[in-house]
Amino acid sequence: MKENIQAYNNVLELIGKTPLVKLNKIMKDFPGNYYAKIESFNPGHSTKDRIALYIIEQAEKKGILKPGSTIIETTSGNTGFSLAMVSVIKGYECILAVSSKSSKDKIAMLKNMGAKVYVCPAHVSADDPRSYYQVAKRLHEEIKGSVYINQYFNELNIDAHYNSTGPEIWEQTNGNLTHFVACCGTGGTISGTARYLKEKNNDIKVLGIDAYGSVLKKYHETKEFDSNEIYPYRIEGLGKNLIPTATDFEAIDKFEKVNDEDSAHTARELAKTEGMFLGYTSGAALQGIKQLAAQGEFDENSNVIVILPDHGSRYMSKVFSDDWMMEQGFFDSQHEADATKVQF
Ligand code: PMP
Repeated sequence: MKENIQAYNNVLELIGKTPLVKLNKIMKDFPGNYYAKIESFNPGHSTKDRIALYIIEQAEKKGILKPGSTIIETTSGNTGFSLAMVSVIKGYECILAVSSKSSKDKIAMLKNMGAKVYVCPAHVSADDPRSYYQVAKRLHEEIKGSVYINQYFNELNIDAHYNSTGPEIWEQTNGNLTHFVACCGTGGTISGTARYLKEKNNDIKVLGIDAYGSVLKKYHETKEFDSNEIYPYRIEGLGKNLIPTATDFEAIDKFEKVNDEDSAHTARELAKTEGMFLGYTSGAALQGIKQLAAQGEFDENSNVIVILPDHGSRYMSKVFSDDWMMEQGFFDSQHEADATKVQF
């Protein structure tokens, strides 16, 4: 009776086609309609499933990847997890060279998803042979037929979103959107989606969210790399200290910068107002939208679509930990910290 069983053949068939959900409360003080595309509905719980599957399938089509081949990348974040997941299903070896700064939880997640993880010292320069960039490069040279994903400098990162996220949003909105908002890390999400949407309607305004401490916004405005913009910050996956070629700056109309503290509070607010328990950059994206709305960016006819990139469960020891929030000085007072504690 196999014919009657309604099942997907494997988890990869669940990648993409993520839902668009109306935001009912968090933007109530501002004009316009706001809709979130919730990428944690992907099987690997983030938008990076899309690029992992797309880049691997392109390499298969070109005949570069064959069963048993090796996939290499330099991230302990969402992309690493998605690559490991796709590798499990397709039968590839996945090697991730990660920084010793990566949390134990993240490294354990990658290992449990079948990846081989090389932990490389964090405090060496990018050209030091021990750095995770150099380790990945060396492994790529040594392992015949291996594929180095290199998401910040891979044009296929843009194409993945041009071919999936863009068409999905156009279809889900019947073309009735005025603004598209996304966080920028590699820039693949915003660039690919924006290229598709602007081909359909060039009036759609594309707004990129950047972090204080990152160079992207300034580069967009001046076309110059300004190292004075760079300083440490806490949000992972947002902004960058270099200019990624996976960002099409021409496709982005405007950048807005957000800070660690406001983004953390907004991530928590998303859970408490909309029932959306999502990641730090989802908070950053909504924080950016609030700031833009306060500047008068939207009116009552605006239909704003925002990408919310990953799930909150990855941030239990950060944004969703009261102790972490206290340590960062993100609670104004002990009273605010106590207010989040359960009382018996
Ligand atoms: N949010 C998170 C959690 C991410 O890991 C990333 C990727 N670095 C982004 C947002 C930004 O997406 P993109 O790389 O496509 O710009």
